[in-house]
Amino acid sequence: MKKWLCQVCGYVHDGDDAPEKCPKCGAPKNKFEELTIESSNLIERSRLTNNLLMELDSVLARVEEIAKLGIEDKLDPACVVLFKKASDEAKQSRQSLKAEIATHIEKGKWG
Ligand SMILES: [Zn+2]
Repeated sequence: MKKWLCQVCGYVHDGDDAPEKCPKCGAPKNKFEELTIESSNLIERSRLTNNLLMELDSVLARVEEIAKLGIEDKLDPACVVLFKKASDEAKQSRQSLKAEIATHIEKGKWG
């Protein structure tokens, strides 16, 4: 699908034609520039990566929940150690990937 970039605020519109008005900053249609196929593809891939990171985050959140149940149950010390390790690693990964997503948003990489 064609993509149009608002040259005022960086908003990316998907469609055959530029919008009458930028939904983000209100700039008129003539402020939109059609993106090249290369740029469009890059944006599609960025969106995919962003979605994958979000999905990973929800899976890791589930890991933390499961590990918490195991820690609370406290049946066996060796297992509790494993649950704690899984919980810590999931927590750490979630922090890193949230920080990464935040830098993408800051750079306006995600359209
Ligand atoms: Zn705009």
